[in-house]
Amino acid sequence: MKTCIFGGTFDPPHIGHLLIAQTVFESENFERLIFVPANISPAKKNGDSSSPNERSKMLEIALINNPNFEISDLEIKREGISYTIDTIREFVDDLKLDKEDLFFLMGSDTLKSFHTWKDPEEILNLCNIIVAIRPGFTPSDIPQWVLDSVRFANIPRFEVSSTNIRRRWREGKTIRYMVTKEVWEYIDEKDLY
Ligand code: ATP
Repeated sequence: MKTCIFGGTFDPPHIGHLLIAQTVFESENFERLIFVPANISPAKKNGDSSSPNERSKMLEIALINNPNFEISDLEIKREGISYTIDTIREFVDDLKLDKEDLFFLMGSDTLKSFHTWKDPEEILNLCNIIVAIRPGFTPSDIPQWVLDSVRFANIPRFEVSSTNIRRRWREGKTIRYMVTKEVWEYIDEKDLY
Protein backbone atom coordinates (compact mmCIF):
# COMPACT_ATOMS: atom_id res chain seq x y z
CA MET A 1 0.00 0.00 0.00
CA LYS A 2 1.58 3.24 -1.17
CA THR A 3 2.07 5.20 2.05
CA CYS A 4 3.27 8.70 2.81
CA ILE A 5 4.43 9.74 6.26
CA PHE A 6 4.20 13.41 7.20
CA GLY A 7 6.12 14.23 10.36
CA GLY A 8 6.07 17.54 12.18
CA THR A 9 5.36 19.39 15.37
CA PHE A 10 1.99 20.67 14.17
CA ASP A 11 1.79 23.41 16.80
CA PRO A 12 -0.73 24.21 15.40
CA PRO A 13 -1.51 22.26 12.22
CA HIS A 14 -2.32 24.86 9.54
CA ILE A 15 -3.63 25.04 6.02
CA GLY A 16 -0.07 24.82 4.63
CA HIS A 17 0.19 21.32 6.10
CA LEU A 18 -3.25 20.35 4.85
CA LEU A 19 -2.78 21.71 1.36
CA ILE A 20 0.61 20.12 0.72
CA ALA A 21 -0.63 16.80 2.12
CA GLN A 22 -3.71 16.86 -0.08
CA THR A 23 -1.74 17.94 -3.15
CA VAL A 24 0.88 15.18 -2.91
CA PHE A 25 -1.76 12.63 -1.98
CA GLU A 26 -3.36 13.25 -5.36
CA SER A 27 -0.30 13.83 -7.51
CA GLU A 28 1.59 10.79 -6.18
CA ASN A 29 -1.45 8.53 -6.01
CA PHE A 30 -0.87 7.64 -2.39
CA GLU A 31 -3.24 5.19 -0.80
CA ARG A 32 -2.78 6.64 2.66
CA LEU A 33 -1.07 9.59 4.24
CA ILE A 34 -0.14 9.38 7.89
CA PHE A 35 0.52 12.48 9.97
CA VAL A 36 2.99 11.76 12.75
CA PRO A 37 3.15 14.44 15.44
CA ALA A 38 6.55 14.48 17.13
CA ASN A 39 6.77 13.89 20.85
CA ILE A 40 9.78 16.19 21.10
CA SER A 41 11.25 17.42 17.83
CA PRO A 42 15.08 17.29 17.83
CA ALA A 43 14.99 20.78 16.30
CA LYS A 44 12.72 22.18 18.98
CA LYS A 45 14.11 20.56 22.12
CA ASN A 46 14.29 23.81 24.06
CA GLY A 47 11.10 25.31 22.76
CA ASP A 48 7.92 25.50 24.74
CA SER A 49 5.64 23.53 22.41
CA SER A 50 2.08 22.73 23.31
CA SER A 51 1.79 19.27 24.84
CA PRO A 52 1.83 16.22 22.55
CA ASN A 53 -1.79 15.57 23.48
CA GLU A 54 -2.86 19.07 22.55
CA ARG A 55 -1.02 18.89 19.23
CA SER A 56 -2.49 15.46 18.50
CA LYS A 57 -5.96 16.68 19.33
CA MET A 58 -5.57 19.66 17.00
CA LEU A 59 -4.48 17.35 14.19
CA GLU A 60 -7.45 15.12 14.84
CA ILE A 61 -9.87 18.01 14.49
CA ALA A 62 -8.01 19.46 11.50
CA LEU A 63 -8.22 16.16 9.60
CA ILE A 64 -11.79 15.33 10.46
CA ASN A 65 -13.85 13.97 7.55
CA ASN A 66 -10.84 13.20 5.37
CA PRO A 67 -10.78 9.42 4.95
CA ASN A 68 -7.39 9.53 3.22
CA PHE A 69 -5.55 11.04 6.16
CA GLU A 70 -4.56 9.18 9.32
CA ILE A 71 -2.68 10.13 12.47
CA SER A 72 -0.14 7.91 14.18
CA ASP A 73 0.76 8.36 17.83
CA LEU A 74 3.86 6.22 17.44
CA GLU A 75 6.32 9.03 18.27
CA ILE A 76 4.28 10.21 21.23
CA LYS A 77 4.05 6.65 22.59
CA ARG A 78 7.79 6.15 22.09
CA GLU A 79 8.37 9.22 24.29
CA GLY A 80 11.63 11.20 24.41
CA ILE A 81 13.11 12.91 21.36
CA SER A 82 11.49 11.83 18.11
CA TYR A 83 14.03 10.76 15.52
CA THR A 84 12.62 10.14 12.05
CA ILE A 85 14.82 7.12 11.42
CA ASP A 86 13.30 5.33 14.44
CA THR A 87 9.83 6.14 13.12
CA ILE A 88 10.60 4.95 9.59
CA ARG A 89 12.03 1.71 10.97
CA GLU A 90 8.88 1.14 13.01
CA PHE A 91 6.69 1.73 9.96
CA VAL A 92 8.82 -0.63 7.86
CA ASP A 93 8.55 -3.34 10.51
CA ASP A 94 4.87 -2.87 11.36
CA LEU A 95 3.49 -2.30 7.87
CA LYS A 96 6.04 -4.43 5.99
CA LEU A 97 6.69 -1.70 3.45
CA ASP A 98 9.39 -1.78 0.77
CA LYS A 99 11.09 1.43 -0.25
CA GLU A 100 8.97 1.76 -3.39
CA ASP A 101 5.85 2.07 -1.25
CA LEU A 102 7.16 4.30 1.50
CA PHE A 103 7.43 8.10 1.22
CA PHE A 104 8.25 10.87 3.66
CA LEU A 105 6.94 14.38 3.07
CA MET A 106 8.74 17.50 4.29
CA GLY A 107 8.98 21.21 3.53
CA SER A 108 12.12 22.69 1.99
CA ASP A 109 13.09 24.45 5.25
CA THR A 110 13.24 21.06 6.91
CA LEU A 111 15.31 19.66 4.05
CA LYS A 112 17.98 22.25 4.86
CA SER A 113 18.89 20.44 8.06
CA PHE A 114 18.22 16.92 6.81
CA HIS A 115 21.94 16.07 6.52
CA THR A 116 22.33 16.79 10.26
CA TRP A 117 19.55 14.36 11.26
CA LYS A 118 20.22 11.00 12.85
CA ASP A 119 21.18 8.48 10.11
CA PRO A 120 20.07 10.46 7.04
CA GLU A 121 21.57 7.92 4.60
CA GLU A 122 19.62 5.13 6.27
CA ILE A 123 16.41 7.16 5.97
CA LEU A 124 17.10 7.48 2.24
CA ASN A 125 17.69 3.73 2.00
CA LEU A 126 14.31 2.97 3.52
CA CYS A 127 12.02 5.57 1.97
CA ASN A 128 11.63 8.23 -0.72
CA ILE A 129 11.62 11.85 0.33
CA ILE A 130 9.22 14.30 -1.25
CA VAL A 131 9.86 17.99 -0.68
CA ALA A 132 7.34 20.82 -0.78
CA ILE A 133 9.13 24.05 -1.63
CA ARG A 134 8.49 26.99 0.70
CA PRO A 135 9.08 30.60 -0.30
CA GLY A 136 12.71 31.65 0.12
CA PHE A 137 14.09 28.22 -0.77
CA THR A 138 17.70 28.27 -2.01
CA PRO A 139 18.99 24.87 -3.13
CA SER A 140 22.61 26.04 -2.73
CA ASP A 141 22.09 25.74 1.07
CA ILE A 142 21.70 21.99 0.68
CA PRO A 143 24.41 19.37 0.14
CA GLN A 144 24.38 17.94 -3.38
CA TRP A 145 24.03 14.32 -2.23
CA VAL A 146 20.79 15.31 -0.46
CA LEU A 147 19.45 17.20 -3.51
CA ASP A 148 20.25 14.18 -5.69
CA SER A 149 18.28 11.86 -3.41
CA VAL A 150 14.98 13.69 -3.00
CA ARG A 151 12.09 14.62 -5.24
CA PHE A 152 10.56 18.09 -5.35
CA ALA A 153 6.80 18.20 -5.55
CA ASN A 154 4.98 20.72 -7.64
CA ILE A 155 2.94 22.40 -4.97
CA PRO A 156 1.40 25.85 -4.64
CA ARG A 157 3.82 27.92 -2.59
CA PHE A 158 2.71 30.21 0.14
CA GLU A 159 4.13 31.12 3.45
CA VAL A 160 2.12 30.20 6.45
CA SER A 161 3.91 28.72 9.43
CA SER A 162 3.03 27.62 12.92
CA THR A 163 5.51 30.15 14.29
CA ASN A 164 3.75 32.98 12.51
CA ILE A 165 0.33 31.76 13.69
CA ARG A 166 1.47 31.55 17.33
CA ARG A 167 2.98 35.02 17.07
CA ARG A 168 -0.16 36.49 15.55
CA TRP A 169 -2.25 34.86 18.27
CA ARG A 170 -0.09 36.37 21.00
CA GLU A 171 -0.32 39.78 19.33
CA GLY A 172 -4.11 39.54 19.25
CA LYS A 173 -4.19 39.38 15.43
CA THR A 174 -6.53 37.12 13.56
CA ILE A 175 -5.49 33.65 12.40
CA ARG A 176 -8.63 33.26 10.34
CA TYR A 177 -8.07 31.13 7.19
CA MET A 178 -4.63 30.05 8.43
CA VAL A 179 -6.07 27.16 10.45
CA THR A 180 -9.42 25.42 10.18
CA LYS A 181 -12.30 26.87 12.14
CA GLU A 182 -12.28 23.90 14.52
CA VAL A 183 -8.57 24.33 15.24
CA TRP A 184 -9.13 28.05 15.78
CA GLU A 185 -11.86 27.22 18.31
CA TYR A 186 -9.63 24.72 20.11
CA ILE A 187 -6.77 27.25 20.40
CA ASP A 188 -9.22 29.81 21.70
CA GLU A 189 -10.87 27.47 24.19
CA LYS A 190 -7.56 26.22 25.61
CA ASP A 191 -5.88 29.60 25.30
CA LEU A 192 -2.92 27.68 23.88
CA TYR A 193 -0.56 30.46 22.93
P1 ATP B 1 7.22 26.12 12.97
O1 ATP B 1 6.94 27.47 12.39
O2 ATP B 1 6.79 25.96 14.40
O3 ATP B 1 8.63 25.63 12.71
P2 ATP B 1 5.98 24.77 10.68
O4 ATP B 1 4.89 25.67 10.19
O5 ATP B 1 7.23 24.68 9.89
O6 ATP B 1 6.27 25.08 12.21
P3 ATP B 1 5.99 21.96 11.34
O7 ATP B 1 4.99 21.24 12.15
O8 ATP B 1 7.34 22.17 11.92
O9 ATP B 1 5.32 23.36 10.89
O10 ATP B 1 6.10 21.35 9.90
C1 ATP B 1 5.91 20.01 9.55
C2 ATP B 1 6.39 19.87 8.11
O11 ATP B 1 5.57 20.67 7.24
C3 ATP B 1 7.82 20.38 7.89
O12 ATP B 1 8.49 19.48 7.02
C4 ATP B 1 7.63 21.73 7.25
O13 ATP B 1 8.72 22.07 6.41
C5 ATP B 1 6.37 21.51 6.43
N1 ATP B 1 5.62 22.76 6.20
C6 ATP B 1 5.02 23.54 7.11
N2 ATP B 1 4.42 24.61 6.55
C7 ATP B 1 4.62 24.51 5.21
C8 ATP B 1 4.27 25.32 4.06
N3 ATP B 1 3.59 26.45 4.20
N4 ATP B 1 4.70 24.88 2.83
C9 ATP B 1 5.41 23.74 2.71
N5 ATP B 1 5.78 22.93 3.75
C10 ATP B 1 5.41 23.31 4.98
